[in-house]
Amino acid sequence: VEELVNNYMNRVFQQMVSRDPYEKEFHQAVRDLFVSIRPVLMKNTDYIKYNILERLVEPERLITFSVPWMDDKGVVHVNRGYRVQTNSAIGPYKGGLRFHPSVNTSIIKFLGFEQTFKNALTSQPIGGGKGGADFDPKGKSDAEIMRFCQSYMTELHKYIGPDIDVPAGDIGVGPREIGYLFGQYKRLRGKYEAGVLTGKGLHYGGSIGRKEATGYGVIYFVQEMLKDLGETLKDKTVVVSGSGNVAIHTMEKAIELGAHVVACSDSNGYIYDENGIDLATVKRLKEVERRRIKDYLDEHPHATYKEKCTDIWKIPCDIALPCATQNEIDEKEAKRLVENKVMLVAEGANMPSTTEAIGVFLYHNIPFAPAKAVNAGGVAVSALEMAQNSSRVTWSFEQVDNMLKEIMKNIYHDSVTAAKDYHKPGNLMVGANIAGFTRVADTMIDLGVI
Ligand code: GLU
Repeated sequence: VEELVNNYMNRVFQQMVSRDPYEKEFHQAVRDLFVSIRPVLMKNTDYIKYNILERLVEPERLITFSVPWMDDKGVVHVNRGYRVQTNSAIGPYKGGLRFHPSVNTSIIKFLGFEQTFKNALTSQPIGGGKGGADFDPKGKSDAEIMRFCQSYMTELHKYIGPDIDVPAGDIGVGPREIGYLFGQYKRLRGKYEAGVLTGKGLHYGGSIGRKEATGYGVIYFVQEMLKDLGETLKDKTVVVSGSGNVAIHTMEKAIELGAHVVACSDSNGYIYDENGIDLATVKRLKEVERRRIKDYLDEHPHATYKEKCTDIWKIPCDIALPCATQNEIDEKEAKRLVENKVMLVAEGANMPSTTEAIGVFLYHNIPFAPAKAVNAGGVAVSALEMAQNSSRVTWSFEQVDNMLKEIMKNIYHDSVTAAKDYHKPGNLMVGANIAGFTRVADTMIDLGVI
C-alpha cells in the first residue's frame, strides 16, 4: 500500500508541476497538504480509486479577465482580474478577493486551495474559491478605487451569485471596496441579492461581528491551545505582524485578555513599543487615515521603527502571531523565534510560514497551528452572514460572537482528534489538514464523479 500511495502522490504532484511549472506558492500549499494526508490515503485507498488528489489540484474553474480603468488624470490602465472556483463539493464557492501587485495565478490558486479545506473545517456549507487583481490600491484616490471596483465587478458578476460563488475581502479589499463592488453588482443585476458578497456594511446586509471575526477567532483558537498547556494569555508578550483587519482585531482581543502586545508592522517596516502597542493610534492610522505604520512614532516618540518588516521576528516573545502575508517567516526567522524561546506560534495570515519554517517549529516541539484552522473565524462568520441574508434576519454581536467561539473550539478539537487518530498527537498542522481534507474528499466520493 505504501508504494501505491507514494506512486500516486508523486504522479499527481509531478503532473501538476509540469503543467504549471512556475506556480511555486501553489506547489508549496499542495506539498504541505500532501505530506500531512499520506496516512489517510494509506488507510483508505478509495481516495486513490476516485482520483481525489488530481481532482483537487485542478480547480473546477479559473477565470481571468482584464480590468480597464481610468485614473484621476485621465490615463487608462489595465489590470488583470482573477477568480478561482476551486471546489464546490460542500457548498457554493466562498473566499475573499485580494487587490495587491503580487497577485498572480499561483497566489490565487494557493489561496483557493487553502480556502477549500479551511471552509470545510468551519463545518459550514461553503466550498472554496478566491480572487483578486494585481492592482495596487496604495496611494489611489477614493474615486480611483471606486472606478476600479466597478470595472472589476462588471466582469466578475457573470460568474457569481448567492448560491454560486460568494466573494468577500482579503488583503487590499475592506468595507469600502465591498461597498463599491456590491453597488455595481446590484446595479447590473437590477435586484437585491444580499448574499452575493460578505463583509458588507451593517446597513445593507452585513453581519455584526464579521469585521472582528478573523482576529478574534485567532485569539479564541490560541486560548484553546494555551488551555491544553495549562496557560492563559495574561501577561504574555505577543508579537503580531501586519496592521490590517486581521492583525488589528487579533491585537484587540489579545490586549483585552491581558496580553502585552509589543510590536506590529506593515510592508515597509515594524514598530516596537515596550509599553504595549496603542491600538487606537494604529486603527486610526490604518483604517481612517490610510497612512504608514511608521507614523505611529509621531504620537509615540518613545517607540522604535525599523525598516525590513520580517525583522519583527527578532523581537523576543512568548507568542508569535504572523498576520501579514504568505511566507513572511522563513527558516532563519523561525530559528530566531526558537532561540528566543517562543512558546507558541499561530498563523493569522494565509501560509505565513514557509515549509522550512514549519519544519523548524515541529522539530523543536513548538506548538504550531496552521492558518486554515487559526484564521477560519473570518470565513465562518461570512457563512453566518450568508445565513442571515437568506433568512432576512439580523443577529446580535453576542449571538455571532458565541457562535464564532463555538466554531473555533470545534476546529481546535477536530484537529487535535484527527492528529491523535493518525498517530501524530499534538501536531495541529497534520490534524487540521486531515480533518479538512477528509470532509471535502468524502463529500466528493458521495457526490460521484461529476
Ligand atoms: N479572506 C478571508 C480568508 O482568507 C475571508 C474569506 C471570506 O470571508 O470569504 O479566509
